[in-house]
Amino acid sequence: MRIDTAVLSPELIPLIERINGLLPQTQCGQCGHRGCRPYAEAIATGEALNRCPPGGKSTIAELATLLDRDVLPLDPEHGVEAPRLIAFIREGECIGCTKCIQACPVDAILGAPKLMHTVIASECTGCDLCVEPCPVDCIDMLLVPAAELVRLEVPPARRQQSAHWRQRYEFRQQRLLSQVAAQVTRRKALQEATRAADSKTSDSPPMSEEQARANIQAAVLRTKARKEALRTADN
Ligand code: SF4
Ligand code: SF4
Ligand code: SF4
Repeated sequence: MRIDTAVLSPELIPLIERINGLLPQTQCGQCGHRGCRPYAEAIATGEALNRCPPGGKSTIAELATLLDRDVLPLDPEHGVEAPRLIAFIREGECIGCTKCIQACPVDAILGAPKLMHTVIASECTGCDLCVEPCPVDCIDMLLVPAAELVRLEVPPARRQQSAHWRQRYEFRQQRLLSQVAAQVTRRKALQEATRAADSKTSDSPPMSEEQARANIQAAVLRTKARKEALRTADN
């Protein structure tokens, strides 16, 4: 999968937002980008608009209208239009490794280390990204119930669903960024503390043998005095 590093002109942001609003927000990466938003950025800067299999013909048509470009057939190199699926974990076989949670772009999996995991069906985009990392191959991709597919045929329902997935994806991205920032802050604080301790040690003049002996003697006397005080208190 390509990592998008281009610096975008701020004038493109409104257009990118509108393009992203038309993409299905499955976050599957079949277009060759890390998610729908990076593909929206690429389309805004000239990339072909026919690389999103989950969006299929209808999304291509909407993008072509928005951008005043030709309607193209879906590029088969990126996959084919297929019925929507959702992930299902065969819980009895799950070993609780959490690899699927790490792969899920919309936080649709519940679980904890060494515990059984489960998919929140209503949040699953069917992106398929959890299947490959599972070491025991206990995730199946199942057909979405027909009634749900019919409900999502209606454009407002489909848009609402996409907006919901987009929100979850963006929330997760934000959470991951915050975790990285917190890690960097912790590492910096540790480095600074280590540096400060090192400079304190190197700034102190070396202790003479006589002074070291006096310190030990003083510590021994303090311990004796403490023991004596405890004995007196017991009597
Ligand atoms: S749904 Fe998948 S293929 Fe379509 S734009 Fe989003 S990430 Fe790319
Ligand atoms: S549970 Fe699996 S298929 Fe569903 S959204 Fe998460 S990674 Fe994608
Ligand atoms: S990747 Fe597979 S085994 Fe690991 S927690 Fe997820 S479902 Fe369970």
